[in-house]
Amino acid sequence: MPARSAANIFARRVSALRQRIEAAEVGGLVDAHPPNVQYLTGFTGSAGVFLLTPRDAILFTDSRYRIQAREEARNVEVRVESVRLHTAAGKALRGRHRRPVIYSPEHTSVAQRHELAQASGRGVRWMAVEGVVEELRSVKDESEIAVMREAARLAEEALSEVLKLVKPGVEENDLAAEIEYRMRRKGASGAAFPTIVASGPRAALPHAQPSRKRIAKNELVVFDLGAILRGYCSDLTRTVHVGRASARVREWYRAVLEAQAAARAILRPGVDGAAVDAAARGRLRRSGLARYFTHSTGHGLGREVHEIPRLARLSRSVIRAGQVVTLEPGIYIQGVGGIRIEDDIVVRENGTESLTQLNRELLEL
Ligand code: ZN
Ligand code: ZN
Repeated sequence: MPARSAANIFARRVSALRQRIEAAEVGGLVDAHPPNVQYLTGFTGSAGVFLLTPRDAILFTDSRYRIQAREEARNVEVRVESVRLHTAAGKALRGRHRRPVIYSPEHTSVAQRHELAQASGRGVRWMAVEGVVEELRSVKDESEIAVMREAARLAEEALSEVLKLVKPGVEENDLAAEIEYRMRRKGASGAAFPTIVASGPRAALPHAQPSRKRIAKNELVVFDLGAILRGYCSDLTRTVHVGRASARVREWYRAVLEAQAAARAILRPGVDGAAVDAAARGRLRRSGLARYFTHSTGHGLGREVHEIPRLARLSRSVIRAGQVVTLEPGIYIQGVGGIRIEDDIVVRENGTESLTQLNRELLEL
C-alpha cells in the first residue's frame, strides 16, 4: 500500500475517533495499547502513548523509536520524550481541560494512572472507559478483511501440509513446530498464539500445550493455530481422527459441526453475542453434549486474537456489519478426548462470509 493512501486511512480513523469523543463531550483520550496505537497511527513500536484531543493528535515515544515513529506515524505529531511516556501525555494536558479525559482501565497500570494524574495536575479529571478504540477497530474495512482472508489462507495451507505428516508415533510438539515454521515460510510475521496440537485424552484440554506425547491410533487430534499477517490474525481449529472413527465419535463430531452452523445461521448485524452463543449451545443440548461445551462460542478477531465482540453466555456485545468473529464450539470429555471446529467469519449486512475455507468434515487419517 503506498504511504500516502495509508496515511489517509490513519487520518480517517483518528477523525472517526475524534468525532466519537466530541459526541461524548469528552476532552480527550490517552491510549498506549500497542494494537490501538498501531491502528490509529501506523506506529508498530512497543513504546507509544497516543493522546487525542479535539485539537491535537500526538504520539509520545522514546529515543529508540525516533526514526521509526516518524516514518510510520505520518498522520500525527510525534514527540520523542526522555521522561516516562504517560508523564509526557499528562503534562501535555496540564491546565487545558475542563472536560474529562478518557483512559483505558484495561490497558493502564496503576503506576501509569498515577503518572497521568501527577503530570496533568488536579485540573484534569480522568475517566476510566473501556474499549473506545477497540469498539472502533472491531468493524473492519475491506482492505483489512482482505488481509485477514490472506492470513486465514496462510494458516489453512500450513495445516493442510502438516496434516499429511500425522501418523501414529509422531510427537505433538513436532507437528506444532512444523505448523509454525510453515506459516513463517509462507510470509507470516509469527503465530497469532502458541499453536495447539492435542491428541487423545489431552484433546479434552481446550488450551492444551503441545507435549512430547506421541500420536496414537484411534485418537482425536485437535489443531488450533493462527498466523499474523501484516498485523492481522487468523484463528483456525480442525479436529481429525487417526484411523477410522467410531459411530459415537462421528455423532459427536456431527453435533459440534451443526452447533457451529446453528451459530452462523443467526449471526447478523443487530443480534447480540449471547444469542449466537445460545444457538450453538442449544444444538449441543439436543445431543446431550451441552455440559461438555465449557467455553464460549467465539470472539472478535483482528489485530488481536481476542477482540470484541464476545460470543458468550453473558455477552452484551451487539454484532455489527464488518466485524470478524470466530465460531468455535467444542466438546471436551475427560479421559476420552475433545472436538473443536473453528472458523473466521465476517458479518455482512445480509449474511456472513467465511474467511476460512478448509474442509470441515471429519478427516480420518
Ligand atoms: Zn483458535
Ligand atoms: Zn479462537
